[in-house]
Amino acid sequence: MSGYTTVAAISTPPGKGGVAVIRISGADAFAVADRMFKPKNGRPLSVSRIREQVWGDILLDGSPIDDGLATRFAAPHSYTGEDTVEISCHGGFLITKMVLSAVLAAGAAPATAGEFTRRAFLNGKLSLTDAEAIGNLLEASSAAAVRLASARSRDKLSAAMDGIREDTVALMGSHFARIDYPDEDLGDFTDAETVALLRSLLSRLDALIDSYRTGRAVNEGIATVICGKPNAGKSTLYNRLVGEDAAIVTDIAGTTRDILERTVPLGQVLLRLSDTAGIRETSDPVERIGVEKTREKMKDAELVLAVLDTSRPMTEEDTSLLASLSSLGAVTVAICNKSDLPAAWDASALDGKVTHTLTLSAKDGALTPLRTLVESLFTSGELTVGEDAIVSSARQHAGLLSAREHLSLALEAYLAGLPTDAAASDIERAIGALGALCGKSVSEAVVSDIFSRFCVGK
Ligand code: GDP
Repeated sequence: MSGYTTVAAISTPPGKGGVAVIRISGADAFAVADRMFKPKNGRPLSVSRIREQVWGDILLDGSPIDDGLATRFAAPHSYTGEDTVEISCHGGFLITKMVLSAVLAAGAAPATAGEFTRRAFLNGKLSLTDAEAIGNLLEASSAAAVRLASARSRDKLSAAMDGIREDTVALMGSHFARIDYPDEDLGDFTDAETVALLRSLLSRLDALIDSYRTGRAVNEGIATVICGKPNAGKSTLYNRLVGEDAAIVTDIAGTTRDILERTVPLGQVLLRLSDTAGIRETSDPVERIGVEKTREKMKDAELVLAVLDTSRPMTEEDTSLLASLSSLGAVTVAICNKSDLPAAWDASALDGKVTHTLTLSAKDGALTPLRTLVESLFTSGELTVGEDAIVSSARQHAGLLSAREHLSLALEAYLAGLPTDAAASDIERAIGALGALCGKSVSEAVVSDIFSRFCVGK
């Protein structure tokens, strides 16, 4: 699309690699490439066939610095929807920077983070939901997150949201017809039909809103705190989950003083995991800070894993930890650890004190029971990641909540027998919220927020 400057960036990750790709996009992309790429066949790149790979020399200040392959994509059939050239060169750190310099010297401006995808959105190549899914795909750190960001999955979500929006627009149309021509039977829906349609729209919205718990667990991770008295096995569990020796495991009580945080996949879900200082009353000032931080983290956590050492008698510290769990808003799981050693007490001692209890050996036992429990707690068994419409962004979730609120008000107005136009403004607001969701009427601020998460070159 014309109107935008021609921009370029390295689209592959920095570092050494077999191949790197430099992308040029904009109305002058072909002219820019002609100035710095000389095909070996002697003809300018701009006369090559579209999508044909052309071998040639890459020139900086008139001298060849590398050879590579260039491919032209003509608007609108490119990722951005604009004329685009992609140049593949050798993937060294310096050489890719030099090739980019050559492109910039030939007249392109440097692309900002996410600019190619932003242009794709502005040129109608992508919906906002697609763009968010691409952002998630770049950040995906589990197989489930990749499936959730897949084209199939986002098509399902787009279709579900578009369907709700279209039906709400149809309802609105019928509504206006009745307001403008009350004596003529112009509306498509009777009152009873309108009420039924509003109810069905609300339940469709509810299903999408409920799916956010799964989407978030898959994409962003569940804020998780591992707590317990010193030597209970917190660091051991943390390391098993993270899969490497990220925290120091020792036999000396009180060695974990800083809170480490990592996002790790556990089956279908992601845990945003904090390994925290052992909870106990202490006079060591450094350790005391750690204990305070743990208490704060526990307040914000969605999942608290309280590790208890079953090989030793329960202590005052264990009982006071268990007592403090009940006041938290989080799901609390007591992990009766060291099940490989003879038990000093039985897990039934915890009955009524926590919502879930698991017995395992963090050191060498299988973590499957923990995975199964967490998956069942944070994903709905009815939803299949990659197959169902699952909401995974806070923006979509907020939009759906707002649409639901307005449609509920419209339903209330109908049921209370208020004049037709009382409901009209609520339905209109719901359409606004749904339109913003589908990217049909969206503020610049929202667009900027989404694309700021992308890296340069995407
Ligand atoms: P933290 O202070 O709660 O972080 O405890 P650590 O993870 O540092 O573990 C304290 C000690 O208990 C270490 O010697 C671990 O090897 C040991 N430990 C942890 N989990 C188990 C377990 O399941 N079985 C046995 N036998 N020892 C464990």
